[in-house]
Amino acid sequence: MENKRLKLIDAQCCICESADAAPIGAGEDFEYRTSSDTFLAMRCNSCELVYLNPRPDISEFERIYPPSYHAFDFSEQDFGIVYKIRSRLEAKRLLSLCKDLPKDARILDVGCGDGFHLKLLKKYGEKSWTLEGVDVDKRAVRMAEESGLKIHAGSIEELNLPENFYDLTLMIQTVEHLENPLESLTAIKNVLKPKGKLIIVTDNTDALDFKIFKGSYWGGYHFPRHWNLFNAHSLAKLAAKVGFETVEIKTIVSPVNWVYSVHNALVDWNAPRFLTNRFTLKSTASLSAFTSLDMVLQKFGRGALLRAILQKP
Ligand SMILES: [Zn+2]
Repeated sequence: MENKRLKLIDAQCCICESADAAPIGAGEDFEYRTSSDTFLAMRCNSCELVYLNPRPDISEFERIYPPSYHAFDFSEQDFGIVYKIRSRLEAKRLLSLCKDLPKDARILDVGCGDGFHLKLLKKYGEKSWTLEGVDVDKRAVRMAEESGLKIHAGSIEELNLPENFYDLTLMIQTVEHLENPLESLTAIKNVLKPKGKLIIVTDNTDALDFKIFKGSYWGGYHFPRHWNLFNAHSLAKLAAKVGFETVEIKTIVSPVNWVYSVHNALVDWNAPRFLTNRFTLKSTASLSAFTSLDMVLQKFGRGALLRAILQKP
């Protein structure tokens, strides 16, 4: 299984709809070793989007997202203090984005995974809000439903959710996984009410971690699961093409890509396991060190994640 090659298909820039791009990095699935392939990251010469080309065919979905995939097992049980700190931080960030919402607001989390963010909104937000999620992965949907959440199984493009219905939609570390961000954002725009907002959080290719590790080990590549990676420029261009107004695009602090970048380098250099284990999402020491570093970078507008607030006209 591990050595079998994936079925790959050709890709192009989803914003410019052209293949005028140059290679910027190459690497393997350092985290899960789901195949022996080497993957190529290209950067569009026009909009600076970084995209995987070729990329896995959609039929390989279950192979590239194995049962041990972290979006499916991020629990307090397994992650202890890291879970507690991240929950508190994410709840604070989410609620600050929801402060202008009406009492009867409808919120949709697209790519909700196991329902982490919806659970935070349920716990800390207004009890009168309607909370719903969307995810294509059956395992994730099942886990979210076990928490009592209302989840639509499928892709936002195919679900036929009611138009002009939601006040706020979230895409938190989702857009980079999508096959066609342009179509997905168009579908989201349709289900939003006029003046409704879409919040996108995604890896930032203008960050220092990208600059240092882009040749191969950058955590944000997440080979071969991240198909489209943005900077503020390409994300604004995508938003404009769909017809969203950009309210704000800024960077926010995250240690995750730093930790994975170092982890990937150590794995590739065959470092001993005790050392690679110090650079995982369970390692509080490396997470806090890189959080401190990214907080400094954030002051210069170079945090590891991008956060866009977009509005339907
Ligand atoms: Zn482009």
